[in-house]
Amino acid sequence: MHVLVLGAGQLARMMALAGAPLNIEISAFDVTSETVVHPLTKAVIGQGLASAIAAADVITAEFEHIPHDVLDECERSGKFLPTTDAIKAGGDRRIEKALLDNAGVKNAKYAIIETRADFEAAIETVGIPMVLKSALGGYDGKGQWRLKSLGQVETIWQEMAECIAQTPTQAIVAEQFVPFQREVSLVGARGKDGQIAVYPLAENIHVNGVLSLSTAIDDQALQQQAKQMFSAVANSLDYVGVLALEFFDLDGELLVNEIAPRVHNSGHWTQQGAETCQFENHLRAVCGLPLGSTEQIRPTSMINILGQDSVPESLLDTAGVHVHWYGKEKRAGRKMGHINVCASNQPALTQKLIELAKVLDESAYPAIHQLTQQS
Ligand code: ATP
Ligand code: MG
Repeated sequence: MHVLVLGAGQLARMMALAGAPLNIEISAFDVTSETVVHPLTKAVIGQGLASAIAAADVITAEFEHIPHDVLDECERSGKFLPTTDAIKAGGDRRIEKALLDNAGVKNAKYAIIETRADFEAAIETVGIPMVLKSALGGYDGKGQWRLKSLGQVETIWQEMAECIAQTPTQAIVAEQFVPFQREVSLVGARGKDGQIAVYPLAENIHVNGVLSLSTAIDDQALQQQAKQMFSAVANSLDYVGVLALEFFDLDGELLVNEIAPRVHNSGHWTQQGAETCQFENHLRAVCGLPLGSTEQIRPTSMINILGQDSVPESLLDTAGVHVHWYGKEKRAGRKMGHINVCASNQPALTQKLIELAKVLDESAYPAIHQLTQQS
């Protein structure tokens, strides 16, 4: 099987690593340069979308900010999965919100803003405090504003107006601020036959809008709620592949924050913590193979490596610690790799994270330092 992945980042790379044992070969399409590259070496192995499509058995995506003409061309080949509608929803918060409403899945109250008058109306209907997000192009907390008081309206409007003016189809989605206790996400797969298999929920700690720490949790009541919402979204799209739902946990009630129509950062723990990792399950689903077991095999956390290109060697000498680099050039705050940490029980896992905080600095690994301060 030959799978073409739209996008040539770490997710395509990890799909290639997971696909190799099943003889699933990955090529990555760099949407900006329109070249086909090897997902690991980044060597250019082809030019142009048309020939890349012709050479592929299946086409999928590792990110959602893909030009619609590229998606439409892939769609016409009949080879694209999970569905271009899902990718479009992931890349446009307006479509995403409509999708959640249609699937009957709870999410934060919202309004769409294109003009100053819309902004005034949103302040009335959605209320303050409010989170404002660009409809297109946001990730890692970028393209967002927090409106906490009326005094900020003028300044925030200036910035939002500039953002709207930059892209012809841009708008802002105003969302009610949700005073959540924690953030969790559910990663799961839906097969071509409609079979659904989900992983345990992960609890996610974001610092400055960027995921820092993700830990698989065992909470059956929440898990059931999350799985029901996952199934509603996946079935409504006739989705095939791995899908992630991010939630706010508000007193035990889940609200969907957003969906990611792809393998997800909060599912990286499955590489060491689950029977079958999310990358393999995505490939199994899009290739029409049976899904692998999503069972958790041991307590596991994932720590993102932000803006650093080395770790102390002692980490590689610690049982249960696994370092995954993405082969990217170092840039401040950039996701450069991640560390999966496993232990035989939950207290031992927490202890291991606290030990790691002693040798990993706070700027690159903020969440494990917060853990240390709490304990
Ligand atoms: P990513 O794609 O990297 O997950 P993003 O830029 O798409 O992030 P969101 O997930 O929508 O953005 O928001 C980033 C973070 O901001 C959330 O994880 C959450 O901590 C906070 N946040 C977002 N929306 C709300 C809200 N309505 N109420 C309270 N906090 C929010
Ligand atoms: Mg998010």
